[in-house]
Amino acid sequence: MIKEKILGINVIKLDYKTLVNKIDEDINNRKKTFIMAINPEKILMARKNKKLFNILNNANYPIPDGIGIIYASRLNKGSIRTRVTGINTMEELCSLAAQKKYKVFLYGGKEEIVKKAKEQLEKTYKGINIVGYINGYETNNKEIINKINNCHPDIVFVALGSPKQEYWIYDNMEAIDAKVFQGVGGSFDVISGKTKRAPKKVQKLGLEWLFRLIKEPKRIFRQIKLIKFVFLVLLNKKTN
Ligand code: UDP
Repeated sequence: MIKEKILGINVIKLDYKTLVNKIDEDINNRKKTFIMAINPEKILMARKNKKLFNILNNANYPIPDGIGIIYASRLNKGSIRTRVTGINTMEELCSLAAQKKYKVFLYGGKEEIVKKAKEQLEKTYKGINIVGYINGYETNNKEIINKINNCHPDIVFVALGSPKQEYWIYDNMEAIDAKVFQGVGGSFDVISGKTKRAPKKVQKLGLEWLFRLIKEPKRIFRQIKLIKFVFLVLLNKKTN
């Protein structure tokens, strides 16, 4: 697998089909793995936060989630040209789980959201076995671990936002009887229908960030960071 470093953070070059095949192998080999979506905001956070920096660089599958990652790869003369988003990866894995009868657990989001996300996934992926869910506001971590372990899932989707979900996966994956862990951010909000993704055409144009900005203007503070990110990539390129 080809990995590129973007401002010191690994990003993997692969497509959905390869990723799903690899995860399928990992489950069969009982190998514990974690998938982390990499975007400019997380990279900037990691530059100031050693723990997050190490976690991201330890992910088995650091996927190129944001369009900013594609621009950075181009600027660095890398070869990553297509996004592999967290939510699409989750959907592909749900499809795999339905086919192969893998057990799925959902952790994160508000109670009504995670419940709705479960129901929606069950409608979309006929035969999917979602063995349990917990909202992301429960505070007793021991109970959370016990509840997940009692369900023996193969795949755990964790939707706590960043960097909370990255910390949680890293700190708890050894204690949890599951193979695949994916941090999925706000995906349960989208799957439940609470928030809408940009239309496919807008996604293809690489303008999903603009759509999100129009829907949630307060994201401007998060997105302004993109400018800093591009600036840093350019600066880094010059000194390479
Ligand atoms: N969340 C949670 N527990 C927390 C904080 C956040 O379950 O303590 C959930 C929140 O309800 C939302 C998701 O985490 O569903 C964060 O979504 P956001 O879009 O902010 O994540 P991003 O993908 O931008 O990191």
